[in-house]
Amino acid sequence: MFTRRTFLKASTLITAGSIINPVNFFAQKDKKVRNNSNNRMSLSFRSFDAVLKHPFTVSGNTRTTTAIVLTEIAYEGVIGYGEASMPPYLGESQASVMAFLEKVNLKQFANPFEIEDILSYVDSIAINNTAAKASIDIALHDLVGKLMGQPLHALWGYSAAKVPVTSFTIGIDTEDSVRQKTIETSPFKVIKVKLGVDEITDKMMINTVRSVTQKPIRVDANQGWKDKNYALKMIEWLAERNVEFVEQPMPKHNLDDMAWLTEKSPLPTFADESCQRLEDVTRLKGVFSGINIKLMKCTGLHEANKMITVAKACDLKLMIGCMTETSCAISAAAQLSPLMQYADLDGNLLINNDIFSGAKLVDGKVMLNNEPGIGVRKIE
Ligand code: MG
Repeated sequence: MFTRRTFLKASTLITAGSIINPVNFFAQKDKKVRNNSNNRMSLSFRSFDAVLKHPFTVSGNTRTTTAIVLTEIAYEGVIGYGEASMPPYLGESQASVMAFLEKVNLKQFANPFEIEDILSYVDSIAINNTAAKASIDIALHDLVGKLMGQPLHALWGYSAAKVPVTSFTIGIDTEDSVRQKTIETSPFKVIKVKLGVDEITDKMMINTVRSVTQKPIRVDANQGWKDKNYALKMIEWLAERNVEFVEQPMPKHNLDDMAWLTEKSPLPTFADESCQRLEDVTRLKGVFSGINIKLMKCTGLHEANKMITVAKACDLKLMIGCMTETSCAISAAAQLSPLMQYADLDGNLLINNDIFSGAKLVDGKVMLNNEPGIGVRKIE
């Protein structure tokens, strides 16, 4: 393990989207590794069902568990942790993720610092499987951070003091349940409300939350509003009720109507389903006000850092989001949060069988800790 002094002397930090430049110090160590074919990275994984505290309804479906696959990458006695989370609408399952991971051969790489090459190779194995790819990306970054003895946000030069408050999500439910869930959001400074059903239900959701609290609300319509004039009418109604922004109001491919809506909308609009990976970002300039980056959509931290850079160049606002996940993937996403205007990192708080301890909710923010890598420890 490197000491902090060795690290500071030997390492080079480069800009966001890149990772630590393997240093001379490491190159010497690397020679030994290259000469020892047994001393390579090894990947292991297993399935895990995250149990939700409340059945979760978004526009289109209800569920009580989320399928997860947990990964570990071991190298020289150090283990990096990763995770794939598969809400059903993403089209991945534990079986498809594990079938993907079976194909991954990390032993062909000399060391985990070859992040660009390793993740390009992983991405080339199949077209989709973004959550499976993220599970490798997260474990690899955790491993590299641990080998460097530093949290990722520190290696990237992101200030932990700039972490924004996170929202807590209330799914579509009955009036009584929404009222009860709103009362339970007391540790949070902002509430995210799922809409996109019909006008009566959507307005009931907001009115019920407002009967309990005047905290800022963020709305996610999950593509539920099909007509641009109706969407604008809803947003104008929401704008009078202390709503901060509206996420994915319209179907993901309907970018022409979306650009019209963003131009007329009194509230900022955010792309979620319309923005999966790096290649999506530039075409959303002028279509939305901002993008919601999620590790499970974009294959992980490496590509997320690139998306942040491109989004800034396109004058798009930034939000970091999540699926229902353990503290592993949440703590990984939190490493990026200092660059975000908004955070929606409540996925670990929606489950009752988290097996990691990591970034914690303090004063409404998912706070970064000083532990190396993604900053998690296994609880079990
Ligand atoms: Mg969303």
